[in-house]
Amino acid sequence: MSIRTRFAPSPTGYMHIGNLRTALWAYLIAKKDPEGVFILRIEDTDQGRLVEGATDIIYDTMKQCGLSHDEGPDVGGPVGPYVQSERVKSGLYMDYARELIRRGGAHYCFCDEETIEKAKAENADDSNRSYADPCRNLSLEEAQKRVDAGEPFVIRQTIPQEGTTSFDDEVFGTITVDNSTLDEAVLIKSDGFPTYNFANVIDDHLMGITDVVRGMEYLSSTPKYNLIYDAFDWEKPRYIHCPPVMKDEHSKLSKRNGDASFQDLMAKGYLPEAVLNYIAMLGWSPEGNREIFTLDELVEAFNVKHIGQNGAIFDPVKLTSVNGLWLRGMDLDTYFRLVEPYIREAVKGDYDLKKIAAGVQQRANTLSEIAPMLDFYDTFPSFSNDLYNNKKMKTNPEIALSALKECRSALEGIQSWDFDTLHETLMALPAKMGVKNGQVLFPLRIAISGKQSTPGGAIEIAEILGKEETLRRLDLSIQQLENE
Ligand code: GLU
Repeated sequence: MSIRTRFAPSPTGYMHIGNLRTALWAYLIAKKDPEGVFILRIEDTDQGRLVEGATDIIYDTMKQCGLSHDEGPDVGGPVGPYVQSERVKSGLYMDYARELIRRGGAHYCFCDEETIEKAKAENADDSNRSYADPCRNLSLEEAQKRVDAGEPFVIRQTIPQEGTTSFDDEVFGTITVDNSTLDEAVLIKSDGFPTYNFANVIDDHLMGITDVVRGMEYLSSTPKYNLIYDAFDWEKPRYIHCPPVMKDEHSKLSKRNGDASFQDLMAKGYLPEAVLNYIAMLGWSPEGNREIFTLDELVEAFNVKHIGQNGAIFDPVKLTSVNGLWLRGMDLDTYFRLVEPYIREAVKGDYDLKKIAAGVQQRANTLSEIAPMLDFYDTFPSFSNDLYNNKKMKTNPEIALSALKECRSALEGIQSWDFDTLHETLMALPAKMGVKNGQVLFPLRIAISGKQSTPGGAIEIAEILGKEETLRRLDLSIQQLENE
């Protein structure tokens, strides 16, 4: 039987990094099997939490990440509909709930809030059970009469009062709970909508899900779900509960804490490929110490056995470095196509943007770092002669002045202003002057950019600025040193 996994987000407005990591792992697990199927299911039965536009955010994110689903609301498939609210309309959850009642796995409940609270309080005294419903003892006949008479009801799961329930989780191993600790949770609400507690089981079964991949907050409820599978005599799926993605040692990454969503990361100039690459490894480690993986390479390398149980801390610094590796790994044409608009933000002048891109590529770790690095092309900034003081380069304003004068006269004579000629001309100067390369090229770079650090060195920048502008800036900088 081929693997079928699903990503089952609730459209509540925001693509949480933890959610995206779950989606990615579910995708990888499906795609590891050449026949595997990855499904998108929209869980929108909690009508109070729905946020308009949230479903589009889900589609857009999956698309940007290349996590294409084989079945889902927009692409269809044999076990639809793939939106829970549409499934509600067909009455299927109610039908299955009635069947579950007949099988003794659920019961009608007519209690009001107050009665439930009271029952919970009483139970708390004499057992661990968080809630045993007084209505569970009504005969089916009696209950049916009250339903037929139009009394409002919910349907609750019936949990055995004794014994334990066990299951094997692929990540957390064997989990055993006392049935007495399990809630007789609502399966069908009074408005006829199923809760997650019920819909997830029915849908995963009807959609033929073989591997349930989801956050570990569902780990403790899974025994309850398995009791439902058992009551229906259905085969249970494999479970892969994912450790949380953390902000720090104590708190989970979350919207409430203002932590970044996928959309925020895109706006900050990260690449979807790099984000996926990085988050794949939040809680999973590949063999060896390779860091950079494309999505296809992740499919190849992924192994559920290497998912850890501990929460993994989302480290923006690490993400930034992975993003930088991705950017530097691109061929220049691809890179240029990607970054041209970011360069254009800062550079309006008539410069060779592709050459600028080549310099930027060696330096920028995110797309949003690009524009601020390039402000010196359009406007020669004012700067202090102090910038020429550099211990490592063994330069100071005095050395700079003599170097710049040499540069000035050498550059003036150049007829063909291209990289090779510039290189040849400038590299001849240190030997001639009896100084180190850095003692000429470092001051020159500062003198024509006005900045401590720049994408690209003196020769690249001079080439891009052109002869006239380079000499103009050199003159200004020499003058500024002479006026000191
Ligand atoms: N709708 C649930 C959520 O957003 C899905 C959990 C699951 O994958 O079963 O957390």
